[in-house]
Amino acid sequence: MPWKTGRLKDRASPEKDLDTGMTQLVLVDFDDTLVETAPAFHGAREALFGFLVENGFSRDEAHTVHYDEVDPELLAEHGMGPFRMAPSFRETYLRLCKRHGHESEAGIAEACADLGRNFLGHPKIMDGSLEALRSLSLALPTVIFSQAAQEEYQLGRVRDAGVTTIVGDDRILITERKTAESYLDALNHFGVEDPSRATMIGNSLRSDINPALEAGSRALLVEPYEMWHYDKVDPISQDFLRFKTFPEAVAFVLESTEWHRDPVRKSKLGHCDPTKGG
Ligand SMILES: [Mg+2]
Repeated sequence: MPWKTGRLKDRASPEKDLDTGMTQLVLVDFDDTLVETAPAFHGAREALFGFLVENGFSRDEAHTVHYDEVDPELLAEHGMGPFRMAPSFRETYLRLCKRHGHESEAGIAEACADLGRNFLGHPKIMDGSLEALRSLSLALPTVIFSQAAQEEYQLGRVRDAGVTTIVGDDRILITERKTAESYLDALNHFGVEDPSRATMIGNSLRSDINPALEAGSRALLVEPYEMWHYDKVDPISQDFLRFKTFPEAVAFVLESTEWHRDPVRKSKLGHCDPTKGG
């Protein structure tokens, strides 16, 4: 069975999975798909909450003010990426002071902001992700599709991770925010006219899976760890596959592709019109 590897849920129409043989383009997300990013954000926030507790605030209240009030506002203002974190951390402290009718202290405000600076460090490659990316890119046209408010900064991270030694600069696209519209723009950018011949692999239901499903592409979700709450929206359909890691998703794609290209095995399925994509 070509689709068994890494497959975590049953599907009503397995033959649709075999369409990878007709794949024209595979789009691969970067953060939390190839490199660990969310854990560094989480660690910085934990450091902030610890520091605020040391300064007399409750952890629960700090958590609520940060996640429910301040961070969504700063995300809207600054966009995706780490640069909102310093102002967001400072503002969380100021907002807590205001709630309690305290005067804020400039030193504490600045110390909070410091916890939101330079926390990301060098990209931390997930086990086997670059090897899997290399195998994928040798088998199928592969691009990196990532989102960040600061394009140059994000390109630098993609390069620092060693991705550009596998996928050339011209195959990396950074968008400010992944949506169905920017996903279609990406397909257009890479010359894909039929979205059903593209596959998106990423860790976010909001940013990777839903835009691809909306466009009519195949979508493969990777869930190496708990999804950031912002990414965890309802999928617009269940027509996607889940894998624990990117290498498992790639193994599935490659196995399906191999199988699809094998005329003997393919003929056993009983429907082998390649123009129909499976
Ligand atoms: Mg991601």
